[in-house]
Amino acid sequence: MSTAPTPAPARVLVLNSGSSSVKYQLLDMRGGERLAQGLVERIGEETSRLAHTPLLGGGSAPRERTGPIPDHAAALKAVAEELAADGLGLDSPELAAIGHRVVHGGLRFTEPTVIDDAVIAEIERLVPVAPLHNPANLLGIRTAMAMRPDLPQVAVFDTAFHTTMPESAARYAIDVETADAHRIRRYGFHGTSHAYVSRATARLLGKEPEEVNVIVLHLGNGASASAVRGGRCVDTSMGLTPLEGLVMGTRSGDVDPAVTFHLKRVAGMSADEIDVLLNQRSGLVGLCGDNDMREIQRRIEAGDERAALAFDIYVHRLKKYIGAYYAVLGRVDAVAFTAGVGENAAAVRAAAVAGLEELGLAVDAGLNAERSREPRLISPAYARVAVAVVPTDEELEIARQTFALTRGQVND
Ligand code: ADP
Repeated sequence: MSTAPTPAPARVLVLNSGSSSVKYQLLDMRGGERLAQGLVERIGEETSRLAHTPLLGGGSAPRERTGPIPDHAAALKAVAEELAADGLGLDSPELAAIGHRVVHGGLRFTEPTVIDDAVIAEIERLVPVAPLHNPANLLGIRTAMAMRPDLPQVAVFDTAFHTTMPESAARYAIDVETADAHRIRRYGFHGTSHAYVSRATARLLGKEPEEVNVIVLHLGNGASASAVRGGRCVDTSMGLTPLEGLVMGTRSGDVDPAVTFHLKRVAGMSADEIDVLLNQRSGLVGLCGDNDMREIQRRIEAGDERAALAFDIYVHRLKKYIGAYYAVLGRVDAVAFTAGVGENAAAVRAAAVAGLEELGLAVDAGLNAERSREPRLISPAYARVAVAVVPTDEELEIARQTFALTRGQVND
């Protein structure tokens, strides 16, 4: 009597661990179906919260837990319990791998990498250049590895897509010995999103990624632009840290570096205070008190001048980067907007390309106003350069890369 072969495990858990939060998604890579997703926040506080959404078979109502979750181990245990309640436990033989978002991979990690002790040591070695992110990512990795030591676990790095940048774009013009001694250079972030969106944009144009040059504008709470030539990143707006570049929700983006020592000398601020100012109290929130573009748009409609100025500064910087990356690429096939603001704020998209008709860029008001979760063109048919809205999906991309790397490793 023959028995049907057991299908190979095809579920991937994606973990994005912050210092006090863990975001997760469980996906089935056979059909690319999302099975569950959720978020644990305020880990280490009395008011921790876990919000879990089952998505299997059309989904069911989100469940919430509140009460103290002391650390990442407790957080992951709670996530495992929620998944188990849906019949999707982490001990299931159907789980093929765990994929971890890791913010900083330095120069060494140019690809997703199966995690072992040497990889953990290297991520740890990069802590000085990513003091907020890499330790949190490592907490998630260590916890998940303790939970399922038998399972392949993969690190997918935010910086990896940008390691193709030429030295001319990656180096700051500062003393080379000092820069090299402290690994000061432009690494770039949001790479998983820039990779996913640039490929999806090529597909939208009916082309291969190798055939097209794309400017990707990832506008979320954090925001970054990248210039992608034939599928390879040649420049990006974030640098040594995710502070450089565009105006963001709470981050300043580009400032004259002299602002920092001026504040130290004239205002007596410490390095840590300036760090908080530029990373947490600047950008849109510093300019007008709100970092949510929806609220800013509401205030503009109500005649609020501070909100209008914040919007104008945000758009002015964005336009400068479009122009800069147009020049870097020489020929541009598409400009793609993505992430919370890029996917939803039609007014930002329209303002960012307004007046760029000479560069072949234009937005059709009707197409721009339409709302959809699908990748779509918003430029008029006559425009030389396609303007697109391409929803990003970093979790799916991490899951795909994790699965591609570990397929066949399970149960070896
Ligand atoms: P994160 O960087 O936290 O992943 P997201 O990509 O989810 O951020 O983007 C969050 C931001 O998207 C919010 O702060 C808000 O400004 C913006 N946003 C979300 N929905 C809308 C909308 N309908 N209109 C304008 N802006 C929006």
